[in-house]
Amino acid sequence: MIVYSGLNGHPVRLGYLEPQMVTVLNLAAAWSAREGVDVHLTSGNDHAHAENSLHYENKAVDLQVQVSLNGQRDAKSLMKSLVVHLRGNLALGFDIVHDSPGHYTHIHVEWDIRQREAPSTPRA
Ligand SMILES: [Zn+2]
Repeated sequence: MIVYSGLNGHPVRLGYLEPQMVTVLNLAAAWSAREGVDVHLTSGNDHAHAENSLHYENKAVDLQVQVSLNGQRDAKSLMKSLVVHLRGNLALGFDIVHDSPGHYTHIHVEWDIRQREAPSTPRA
């Protein structure tokens, strides 16, 4: 299931839930059910993101898979599996950023219909 858990004690805040973000959460929930691993939504429209971040427009979420209890698969390989699932099921217009500077610990998914340059520098 999707677990809403902000980082460092900060609550997760979501503004208006854009349909595209609902799609992202539904896909993450389906992956979670299939894998038997919780997906943590660690950030919506909250925390401190870069000034022009789509988080502040309710068009980005951060997802994280934490170490599974069974210990058979590590969080990193699970997050890669989730990234593959999201990339395979989301249409054009989404940017999925993971395993790059600023995004090693979580997956940043944004609905970027304007197709700005994908964040390569830390934008978290
Ligand atoms: Zn983010």
